[in-house]
Amino acid sequence: MSKLAILGGEPVRKKAFLERKSMGEAELQAVKRVLDSDVLSGFIGAAGSQFSGGKEVRRFEDAWATKFGFKHAISVNSASTGLMTAIGAAGIEPGNEVIVSPYSMSVSATAALFYGGIPVFADLDPNSICLDPKSIESRITERTKAIIVVHLLGHPANMDAIMGVAKSRGLLVIEDAAQAPGVLYKGCYVGGIGDIGCFSLNYHKHIHTGEGGIVVTNNDEIALRARLIRNHGENAYEAYGVEDLSNVIGSNYRLTELQAAIATEQLKKLDDILLRRRELASYLTTRLEAINGLTLQKVPVHHTHAYYMFPILYNETVFGVGRSLFLKAVSAELPKPTSWETTPLAEGYVKPLYLNQIYQKKIAIGRKGFPFNYNKGVEYDYSKGICPVVERLYEKELMYSPLVREPLTIQDMKDFADAFEKVADNIDELRDNFVLEESQVYDAIAAINETEKK
Ligand SMILES: *Cc1c(COP(=O)(O)O)cnc(C)c1O
Repeated sequence: MSKLAILGGEPVRKKAFLERKSMGEAELQAVKRVLDSDVLSGFIGAAGSQFSGGKEVRRFEDAWATKFGFKHAISVNSASTGLMTAIGAAGIEPGNEVIVSPYSMSVSATAALFYGGIPVFADLDPNSICLDPKSIESRITERTKAIIVVHLLGHPANMDAIMGVAKSRGLLVIEDAAQAPGVLYKGCYVGGIGDIGCFSLNYHKHIHTGEGGIVVTNNDEIALRARLIRNHGENAYEAYGVEDLSNVIGSNYRLTELQAAIATEQLKKLDDILLRRRELASYLTTRLEAINGLTLQKVPVHHTHAYYMFPILYNETVFGVGRSLFLKAVSAELPKPTSWETTPLAEGYVKPLYLNQIYQKKIAIGRKGFPFNYNKGVEYDYSKGICPVVERLYEKELMYSPLVREPLTIQDMKDFADAFEKVADNIDELRDNFVLEESQVYDAIAAINETEKK
């Protein structure tokens, strides 16, 4: 058996993994077309023919809505402002509780705060890494108004059960589908199952325009309110017959014509990107499933996965070494990353969001604790331990790879899987080394004690 690279052996692979190349001739021509027109934005912040943006923005929105069968697609300048728009359009008010996932980009929870809503964290289902409907139910109070569901890493959340809970309790559902464009849940595209959905077009997402986002809904009234929030609604609501003034104060969350023109070309590439990622993921799942101690996500047949990242659950008890050391050993078998996209393996994802200082100190808007102190006599609990599944994923179990993407091939995945197999086959050797590392830790503690005595 060949020696592990981390212990000085030959690595499985030395040749670097290819970088992603997302822009091409089509995007270049699209940008040229807009530059030649000299109209870089078609928006005006008032009611009228330019309230909903220029030609490119409207073309992109039509293409997005048509492709996925959403009634309305409203482009915005990020998924973050898209989520804020969704919260506003949903009518969230100060003191409303919004049930959110603790395992996501921070804004999936903080979006509620901008309208005085209070994020209440529910725990996750360990297979999908998305909100657990049972945990959602346990968090509902008479103040709960909405649920923000995240389709994390591209795996769809359990929407049937979540919609069931929401309907029976009269709650709105907002889908954060930033990592899941083109993902099917029982024949419906995610983003359009709940009341409002959000997608991202930021640089790291499947398709992108540098920065950008889309809000989608099948509800005409929500769509109109979202358009008002995107573009200075206070100037325009009367012209559109909106009587309810609440939450119509708008901002400028508009996409430029340049971004929209690029987005239209990017959208044409999405199907191929998803196809490639699913092929690579399928091969990798089969190979890694055979390794005792690793658990791979199971995607039910009537759903699809977008593989924004490829998740791998690690069982420390089976391997007898911690996740970090295992990850370092696998990484040592593969070429050094030159960027985030060429990093073979990462661990933990994000710290459970409730451990963030804004929740720990309960300070978000102003200095007096708003909105956490809005509901008199209600204490919000953000202490460690409130979501044990997420804490376990973060601390011990979740590894994920950004390598399962275009333009990489099955051959690349073969090397990746070989690296895992090699480490698993030589785990005893690695464990012996780990004991050494532990003794080095004791040496370090002894040294600290020494200096403290002085
Ligand atoms: C990327 C991301 C966002 C934010 O998207 P931006 O377009 O960068 O604002 C929100 N939620 C999730 C789950 C994301 O991955």
